[in-house]
Amino acid sequence: MGTINNIGPKVFCIANQKGGVGKTTTAINLAAALAQHSQKVLLIDLDPQGNATMGSGIDKSTLKHNIYDVLIGQANLAEATVYAEAGQYALLPSNRELSGAEIDLVGMQDREKRLQMAISENPVQYDYVLIDCPPALSLLTLNGFAAANGVIIPMQCEYFALEGLSDLVNTIKRVHRNLNPQLNLIGLLRVMFDTRVTLQQQVSDQLDAHFKDKVFSTIIPRNVRLAEAPSHGMPGVNYDKASRGAKAYLSFAKELIDRLAKNT
Ligand code: ATP
Ligand code: MG
Repeated sequence: MGTINNIGPKVFCIANQKGGVGKTTTAINLAAALAQHSQKVLLIDLDPQGNATMGSGIDKSTLKHNIYDVLIGQANLAEATVYAEAGQYALLPSNRELSGAEIDLVGMQDREKRLQMAISENPVQYDYVLIDCPPALSLLTLNGFAAANGVIIPMQCEYFALEGLSDLVNTIKRVHRNLNPQLNLIGLLRVMFDTRVTLQQQVSDQLDAHFKDKVFSTIIPRNVRLAEAPSHGMPGVNYDKASRGAKAYLSFAKELIDRLAKNT
C-alpha cells in the first residue's frame, strides 16, 4: 500500500469491528489532542450510538441536521457540521436516525461512496478528518473506508484480539484493491493497557513482532479519568489535562503528526 500525501486533509477511520475496544474514546481524544497541537480537525460520528457526539458535549437529540441527512443527500456536510467547543474541533454529529441509513442506502447509487462524496464536496479545509466507525464491518463502515486514506485500529491486548485483527486487516486490503486505492493501514494503537497484566504484555509483544512499525509506540493506559470525561461532555484531554490518559493521547497525537511528516 502507498503513503499518505501532503495535499488535502488526512482522512482517518478509527475502526475495529469489535465492540467496546476504545474507538470512540480514541476518536474524541485524538481530535482534541490534534486541535491542541494547532491542527484544524473535523470529527465525523459514523455510529448510530452517537457516543462521539455526546462525548464531544453536543446533545444529539436537539440537532437540526446530522450525518444521516448528509448520507442520504438532504443536507451538505457544512450545513450539518457543528462546533464542539469542549474539544475545539468541528463535529458531524450522529444519532439513532443513522441506523436507518443502512436500509435507505441500499437502493441508492454509489451507496458506499456517499460519505466520500460529501467530504470531497466540502469547501472547508481541514488538516485532519477523523471518522469514528461503528462496531461492525457494515455499509456504514464501508462508507468510512471509502472516504478515508488511512485506518487507525485501537485494540486491547487480549487473547482473542489478534484473531479479529486479521479479519479487519483483510477487509482493509480488500477495500484498497476494489473500492479505494488510497486506503492505508496507518497503525495499531494499544489502549486500556494495564502493565500489571502479564497476558497483555505478551499480546503486546506478539503485536510488535507481527506488525513491527505499524504498531504505535505510544500506549494508552487504562485510566478512569478517560472513562469519566464523556459524562461531563468533554474529551479526556480537556477534562483532566494532568491525567495519565490525557498525557498519553497528547503524545499519541504528536507521534502521529511526526510519523506522517516522515512518510511524505
Ligand atoms: P463501541 O464499539 O460500542 O462503539 P468503542 O470501541 O467506541 O465502543 P469506547 O466507547 O471508546 O469503545 O470505550 C468503551 C468503554 O471503555 C467506555 O466506557 C470508555 O469510557 C472506556 N474506556 C475507553 N478507553 C479507556 C481507557 N483508556 N481507560 C479506561 N476506560 C476506557
Ligand atoms: Mg464507539
